Amino acid sequence: MSVTVRVPAKVNVQLGVGAARPDGFHPLATVFLAVSLFDEVTATPAAALTVTCEGPDADQVPLDRTNLAARAAEVLAARAGIEPAVHLHIAKNIPVAGGMAGGSADGAAALLACDTLWGLDTPRTELLDLCAELGSDVPFSLLGGAALGTGRGELLTPVDAGSFHWVFAVADGGLSTPAVFRAFDRLTAGTTVPEPQPSPELLAALASGDPDRLAPALSNGLQAASLSLRPALADTFAAGTGAGALAALVSGSGPTTAFLVRDEEGAAKVAAALEASGTCRTTRTASGPVPGATVLRG
Ligand code: ATP
Repeated sequence: MSVTVRVPAKVNVQLGVGAARPDGFHPLATVFLAVSLFDEVTATPAAALTVTCEGPDADQVPLDRTNLAARAAEVLAARAGIEPAVHLHIAKNIPVAGGMAGGSADGAAALLACDTLWGLDTPRTELLDLCAELGSDVPFSLLGGAALGTGRGELLTPVDAGSFHWVFAVADGGLSTPAVFRAFDRLTAGTTVPEPQPSPELLAALASGDPDRLAPALSNGLQAASLSLRPALADTFAAGTGAGALAALVSGSGPTTAFLVRDEEGAAKVAAALEASGTCRTTRTASGPVPGATVLRG
């Protein structure tokens, strides 16, 4: 018997970042949107905890206990007082180290898959607490949809959102999220960074479902930091907006870039132009919001 869970990637349609706290974490006011780009995690009983991974970026995924899916199985087993005797197979489609929370998604998926496999029936609120222990983006991967995240991004409030179409340009190589936050600290040193606040314009635009209204409201406080580490992303932006994208922004800490488009036709056009431009490794089209981690087979 095995259990398969499908889990979406995310894009931050707002990412407000405050100054680092004494513990090093940055307070965030972010709006997450789950998009239809999915990983699948399958949990199968095994003698011991093992991880395998397939997909275009599989060679960049650690298969030891540092894999967030493995950590999720360990944390859940420890809470239940059982051994994490499970094999986790990750079918990976979310770009690795791309700012789309791929590792976090696998953590949330493994948690739900193991909870189902082991028949634990852990209450949803406790699963969300375990997710927050694993990482700031993991609770949203379980929740999905659209949500405002505060604190380190782990304190979630669902928000209304119409459906939007996106093109994602996947860059060559990833960016380390901590390195991007360090670049943010360097760029803002000596300035007063305001407390991050949710944007009323952004929330209203998201609820309206109108892409022309959402385009000017998108924002990412980490974008300048990502661009300082990857100046060539400016060429990717130019290629996508030149092909008619309504707006471009760095996805989370990058280096994946997200292009808002009006419809599927617009998405195909922007994706083709990006592929032809040679300014990215590959593209994916997606829409969102979509549900969070979901059991497919079990
Ligand atoms: P975020 O958007 O949450 O900042 P990200 O999308 O930029 O994350 P991930 O794809 O989560 O980045 O990968 C970041 C690093 O985490 C990888 O370089 C890898 O070493 C490690 N990692 C651990 N578990 C996984 C996993 N299941 N899938 C991918 N990377 C993982």
